Amino acid sequence: MIGLAAIEDARTRIAEHILSTPLVGSPTLSKICGVTVKLKLEHHQATGSFKLRGATNALLRLTKAERERGIVAASTGNHGRALSHAARMLGSRATICMSGLVPENKIAEVRRLGADVRIIGRSQDEAQKEVERLVNEDGLVMLPPFDHPDIVAGQGTIGLEIVEALPDVATVLVPLSGGGLAAGVAAAVKAMRPHAKVVGLTMERGAAMKASLDAGRPVLVEEFPSLADSLGGGIGLDNKVTFTMCQALLDDVVLLSEGEIAAGIRHAYEHEQEILEGAGAVGIAALLSGKIPPLSGPAALVLSGRNIDMKVHRNVVNGLANPFEQEN
Ligand SMILES: *Cc1c(COP(=O)(O)O)cnc(C)c1O
Repeated sequence: MIGLAAIEDARTRIAEHILSTPLVGSPTLSKICGVTVKLKLEHHQATGSFKLRGATNALLRLTKAERERGIVAASTGNHGRALSHAARMLGSRATICMSGLVPENKIAEVRRLGADVRIIGRSQDEAQKEVERLVNEDGLVMLPPFDHPDIVAGQGTIGLEIVEALPDVATVLVPLSGGGLAAGVAAAVKAMRPHAKVVGLTMERGAAMKASLDAGRPVLVEEFPSLADSLGGGIGLDNKVTFTMCQALLDDVVLLSEGEIAAGIRHAYEHEQEILEGAGAVGIAALLSGKIPPLSGPAALVLSGRNIDMKVHRNVVNGLANPFEQEN
């Protein structure tokens, strides 16, 4: 388990490379929920998501020789983008393996950042096999998107900033996929505020961490296209760090439908003037859905990313059919 000391170290290490993001009040959500609601604007981070924190911390923890060999990862987009940015910033080279489900806009951005992109298969697990090949055959250093102590510690720095900005925080809502973000944030928040609740939010279909927590061990789930594409993918059957931490630290996991996620994106745009990708909007979606009563305040929501295809965003805010909505 990653503790407060590792997260505080990470903060010192990455401080000059990342933005300490604002925590701003949301009058509309506060009114709807009847308690103070604040938004942690991680989508304003360079590369458009919080992933830069973990990527920068992990890269800075490598030796110079390891950085020179180059790094490799499987990614649904935002981790790859963050690693590519961090590699360029810190004098390394990134190779990013992605599944065919990753949206074109994210692939293009990773290429633009100078990484070597490989598109492999139809799932994150297939992309991961290519990562292992490159580690074994070409000697690259693997930096996985979530299941790594230095990645979790880097994401946990968000939790430190939340507690400092909102010392009496009672509830923290975090998007949940592989659990690097949720594990890190929960570790930081609970170390400083043991009574605060930390709730993970994810989509209904293909929620690997939720299925694994229910089963009591990491399990495989089928992947589906979702508006929250950054939340797709398994947690790894040999998960070492995030499963145990989420099991120990999360108070609850709430699942959201595609329609609820769309409503979250729309609310962010119309009432907060913020552009969010689906994964970034699940906190707002959860509050609007009424699935988290009773909400103790003050509450902080992590808005985790903004990297949405703008055509999809336009359709969502215009209330046009959501391509991923389940018909039944
Ligand atoms: C990666 C990501 C998440 C989920 O983070 P995990 O550490 O895998 O749980 C949530 N939102 C966005 C925008 C992401 O890129």
